[in-house]
Amino acid sequence: MGSCKEKEREQAKCVWVHGPIIVGAGPSGLAVAACLSEHGVPSVILERSECIASLWQHRTYDRLKLHLPKQFCELPLMGFPSNFPKYPTKHQFISYLESYASHFSIQPRFNQTVQIADFDPSSGLWNVQTQDFEYISRWLIIATGENAEPFIPKITGMEVFQGSIAHTSVYKSGSDYKGQRVLVVGCGNSGMEVSLDLCRHNAIPHMVARNTVHVLPREIFGFSTFGIAMALSKWFPLRLVDKFLLLMSSYILGNTDQYGLRRPKTGPIELKNATGKTPVLDVGAMAQIKSGKIKVMEGVKEITRNGAKFMDGQEKEFDSIILATGYRSNVPTWLKSCDFFTKDGMPKMPFPNGWKGENGLYTVGFTRRGLLGTASDASNIAQDIAGEWLTIKESKNSHIILL
Ligand SMILES: Cc1cc2nc3c(=O)[nH]c(=O)nc-3n(C[C@H](O)[C@H](O)[C@H](O)COP(=O)(O)OP(=O)(O)OC[C@H]3O[C@@H](n4cnc5c(N)ncnc54)[C@H](O)[C@@H]3O)c2cc1C
Repeated sequence: MGSCKEKEREQAKCVWVHGPIIVGAGPSGLAVAACLSEHGVPSVILERSECIASLWQHRTYDRLKLHLPKQFCELPLMGFPSNFPKYPTKHQFISYLESYASHFSIQPRFNQTVQIADFDPSSGLWNVQTQDFEYISRWLIIATGENAEPFIPKITGMEVFQGSIAHTSVYKSGSDYKGQRVLVVGCGNSGMEVSLDLCRHNAIPHMVARNTVHVLPREIFGFSTFGIAMALSKWFPLRLVDKFLLLMSSYILGNTDQYGLRRPKTGPIELKNATGKTPVLDVGAMAQIKSGKIKVMEGVKEITRNGAKFMDGQEKEFDSIILATGYRSNVPTWLKSCDFFTKDGMPKMPFPNGWKGENGLYTVGFTRRGLLGTASDASNIAQDIAGEWLTIKESKNSHIILL
């Protein structure tokens, strides 16, 4: 009797999903669910947090705005409201995503962390395990993002530092650091924007620029730099586009090398395409660097009890450290028996071919091209699955059947 009951309990935890399983309810998961529903294909989204777009809701700072103009950040099938500004705030972006989900009746299953996803060749099905259920489907769409987990580097001496150390994923506002000497490790978009925010709240930021970085103005004579680059690259070789961008940058921002932000040898767009490294779009940090309010430091050699020693021999005291050291994909930790991804959790096939794997596996939002890449992946995937869907006769009942 006992074992029979156990079997029943186990069976109740097994969920057959009629359409694809989508892992992640960020912009990518929502976009692909919407595109599928346009083709009449139902889907189930599994999301580890308790809300949609958890990156935007929980892991971004207060003053964040979209880095790119809104026309480059729209999801497929539904644009931004016309009254939104050119660069929507994070709150506007979240409200857009909420309207998007409700418009397409997308209801993710929240608090479902995917722990293992495995393809069973004998049944031709994907088994996707969360802490509560095992979901089974013909298709698995990975939408967990390039930024799933904060990346925290190991820096010698971190454990002895007396002040606070926080990753940008928990940074909200410079008001928490008023009057403090803050070491910001990293000089990408987050490092630059957090340093600027700290300045505006009368903190004293020192930003570490260990690697080379391309800083470009967000706009050139009122036109989005990103938009200009996209338009020019349709007509001219990338090297020429890069030359133009660098010329304009040096005219508008000056020689960034002079301020400790060394430029890579390869141009910004060529570098982005080859390595995925995004240029920084300046929203005001350069002016603070020039005025000396943000101090740029070379690499950190060691963290000490009260501060840090730098590669150039300087030693300074700090009250807090903020790690603007980026994020990593988490796919390798839960996707099993599949060699579609690199060990860093990115598809091995470069854009535009990284959206489709074998055995009904798909990925959305791993293009290193932001939301534009997401939109392209989502419509490709929906078209592909819709073709197969039409040939499969399924029950017209509810799309989740408890086995
Ligand atoms: C600060 C910041 C600013 C940005 N600004 C822009 C911009 O202006 N324009 C632009 O185009 N791009 C921008 N980006 C890039 C950004 O990655 C995308 O905008 C967008 O959030 C990516 O959407 P996504 O759905 O692919 O990933 P995410 O938004 O990261 O969503 C992934 C979801 O998957 C969930 N998840 C992860 N692992 C699991 C698991 N094992 N089980 C279940 N659920 C899981 C997460 O909780 C999350 O909700 C920015 C990124 C950052 C960090």
